[in-house]
Amino acid sequence: MPERDTEPTKSPDTPIGSALQPAPERDTEPEGVPIPPAERDPFPIDEVMATLRATMPAFQRPLIDQMGVEGTTPFRVLIATILSLRTKDTLTAVVAPRLFAAADTPEAMLALGEERIAELIYPVGFYRNKARSIVQICRVLIERYGGAVPADLDALLELPGVGRKTANLVRTAGFGLPGICVDIHVHRICNRWGYVQTKNPDETEQALRAILPPQYWIEINGLLVTLGQNICLPVSPRCSVCPVAATCARVGVTRSR
Ligand code: SF4
Repeated sequence: MPERDTEPTKSPDTPIGSALQPAPERDTEPEGVPIPPAERDPFPIDEVMATLRATMPAFQRPLIDQMGVEGTTPFRVLIATILSLRTKDTLTAVVAPRLFAAADTPEAMLALGEERIAELIYPVGFYRNKARSIVQICRVLIERYGGAVPADLDALLELPGVGRKTANLVRTAGFGLPGICVDIHVHRICNRWGYVQTKNPDETEQALRAILPPQYWIEINGLLVTLGQNICLPVSPRCSVCPVAATCARVGVTRSR
């Protein structure tokens, strides 16, 4: 959305200097009647989502999104999401299949042990901590859920090392259930659009739950991660080639290309 004018548009034949003239007295409204503030147009989310659906397939899909499309298991989505935290998709895409080739269930993962898991997932970021988390998660899955991954959001959030981003991604990409996975890309872009005004991803998730039409809940993460990795970059977004530039308020954008 282009930046909205804050002043009413002057007609081309407005006489020069007319702004200095005293405003004529209004005789259509009784004195003391408050003038309501101008209403903002609602954000055109349908138009924006349609544009992103049409344009983002030109770029590489985010790894976990791709796994969901391919119909992988919730367990794989869960473990791959843990691996992908603070790690590039290109590396996770190499390491995750290597781990799953060695162990594809919580039982098999426990049998591998923390040391071997760490070796297999090296060099993802924080590989030792992630190996420990994977072992702890698998233990809980076996003890509480018979080796299955729960679909309930609260149950997922109780797993060691699992935050809202991971839990929502397991629900959406793993189970195809409603959820809004808000990572740093979704948070940044929704605020730049002016669609939400929030301070962190958790606030953004709550705001989106209130205003985002349900048909977009699952796919918004994949589309905005793709936009955020390729065009709406954190520091200097590529606004000149952005397919949704016409509807973006560019809130907080001070430098762009
Ligand atoms: S790249 Fe620019 S125009 Fe596009 S969504 Fe980001 S801030 Fe808005």
